[in-house]
Amino acid sequence: MSPEENISPQIDNLDKDYGISTFIFKLLNKSEIEKLFGPPIPFNKRVFGYNKSAGKVVALTFDDGPIPEYTEKYVDILKSMEVKATFFVIGKNAQKHPELLKYIYENGNEIGLHSYSHFNMSKMKPEQMVEELYKTQKIVVESTGVKPILFRPPYGAFNKTLLEISDALGLHVVLWNVDPDDWRSPAVENVVNRVISHTKNGSVILMHEGKTNTLAALPQIIEKLKSEGYSFVTVSELLNYEKNNIANNNQEQQKD
Ligand SMILES: [Zn+2]
Repeated sequence: MSPEENISPQIDNLDKDYGISTFIFKLLNKSEIEKLFGPPIPFNKRVFGYNKSAGKVVALTFDDGPIPEYTEKYVDILKSMEVKATFFVIGKNAQKHPELLKYIYENGNEIGLHSYSHFNMSKMKPEQMVEELYKTQKIVVESTGVKPILFRPPYGAFNKTLLEISDALGLHVVLWNVDPDDWRSPAVENVVNRVISHTKNGSVILMHEGKTNTLAALPQIIEKLKSEGYSFVTVSELLNYEKNNIANNNQEQQKD
């Protein structure tokens, strides 16, 4: 399913070889793709929400950063507990704080895209979708030297066009299967309990940056999951676990 790591983007044949429609193909800038993005993914209408065949591993994910005063603290907790996570960053925040992107990456964590503006992308024109992803990708590549291959659409909202554009740009669309609703700032123990009670093998756990209670819950979550025998991987690692046996949510939702 995923192209081999070392193949450079075959963008001349995106339409023929990858099932990307000519309409989408024409919106993409070939030289920008080669410079900024990883190999395209054959268009498959799939989103990734968990990998139940991965064994006793989980992926912690943090959306909506980077946020000064918070990002460093999240990263420092992960570092001190020898755990890595995946940060889905918003382009307009990242633009103001490239040093935080570096801090995330240099401490062993993965960075994925979470749009530039954090609007609902399923309601955007295809040209705007492309722009959101290009702009954010460029910021991450220029700050860290690494090309993200993950994209989590804001609010988990997507449509077929967004999936097609993401695949053409080599971005796996990532959702989640554990959601403690931490953006509403529930009590610390609720954040902890909701995560622990819903986590299974190969879970993708959704949390947010900039939340005092999430920050306070994080050490307890990590400790409890460790005591249950879980280890922590990035979303890319979780995707690659038994590559041919990926459990997809296969949510082909049309949310217009
Ligand atoms: Zn978000």
